[in-house]
Amino acid sequence: MPAHKDFRDWIAARFDTPPPARLPDDGWARLCCELAWQAGQQGCYPVGAVLVNGADELVCSAANQVFDGHYQSQRHAEMELLDQFERYFADQPRDDLTLYVSLEPCLMCTGRILLSGIRRVRYLAADKNAGFARHMHGLPPAMASLAARTTVSTMLAEPVWTAIAGELVRESADSMRQQVVKAWQGQLAVNDVRLIGFDGDSGLAGGSSAEQNSSLEDEPGRWGRKG
Ligand SMILES: [Zn+2]
Repeated sequence: MPAHKDFRDWIAARFDTPPPARLPDDGWARLCCELAWQAGQQGCYPVGAVLVNGADELVCSAANQVFDGHYQSQRHAEMELLDQFERYFADQPRDDLTLYVSLEPCLMCTGRILLSGIRRVRYLAADKNAGFARHMHGLPPAMASLAARTTVSTMLAEPVWTAIAGELVRESADSMRQQVVKAWQGQLAVNDVRLIGFDGDSGLAGGSSAEQNSSLEDEPGRWGRKG
């Protein structure tokens, strides 16, 4: 069985006593991971995002809310963040903003980010299944023009944060997928949503994925700090 409780304990310990911040994005990486963790505990995709200004100050933060009350497919962390920003910070120039997010943005969020005028995106974990950052070729001309002035790259952060960001998503992937399919079939009652968080007995703790089962036990070294 996966060391599910150990996994949660391990992450909680990283938040309690994080490695010293040595790299430029470590602080934002940690905050993104904490937001992701909270979203997971609420039964949503564990993804967190923050928007930071040119003085390296936090402007706003958000987490995935896709299963908040009922299934809302657009409520990815980046979308929530940009909703908040455009509503409450409409008078702020976009040029010096950086969007940090725990997971590589998807197609939908990448489009939204390009349209938002934000020109720098830094993510932690790559998303080989749905990430769009490495697929921004062949865009229609207007979007290609926006993409040409936008840099999307990985954060300069301790590997431990990338590991947490990626493992949170991997661990919940099966459960999330099942919930989405249920929603598509009209079978996801509002009351079901709260049962799928990290603390529930269903879903994440079930350990149905081989990848999930082996992730911590086989590769303890990957969790260590670099250097
Ligand atoms: Zn997205």
